[in-house]
Amino acid sequence: MNLILISMGVLGVTALVAAILLYFVSQFFKVEEDPRIDLVQAVLPGANCGGCGFAGCRNFAEACVKAGSTEGLACPVGGDPTMDEVKKILTPAAAEEAAPAAQTGDKKGFDPAIAEKIKALATPRAAFPLNIAMAQNK
Ligand code: SF4
Repeated sequence: MNLILISMGVLGVTALVAAILLYFVSQFFKVEEDPRIDLVQAVLPGANCGGCGFAGCRNFAEACVKAGSTEGLACPVGGDPTMDEVKKILTPAAAEEAAPAAQTGDKKGFDPAIAEKIKALATPRAAFPLNIAMAQNK
């Protein structure tokens, strides 16, 4: 009986030490991302087709945010309506609102209230079928 209790104790302490170690390692290697990347990705069609020249919508969203504008960037699937939504998210006002939010300590790096404000600037992905219809009528 004692052997079972000792084994359980050793395993429990080992698990606890491993959990604490993993927590600190994950905090050390945590990557901070611009919260606007998620917002730009949310308004993209999500087809991940590569038609924009990037591997997928996430990479395209990262490129837009990194460039700070949509100059020379286009999503042929979403067309102009989608790029207009991306432009709204990349406006300086939206960037200013997102910047202090990155310091809130939130897991994703942004304050949900501020993210809601920025999202209000853009039309949700629900507009995607409309975007396709508009692009086909060009
Ligand atoms: S073209 Fe548009 S839908 Fe296709 S991967 Fe690029 S951003 Fe996504």
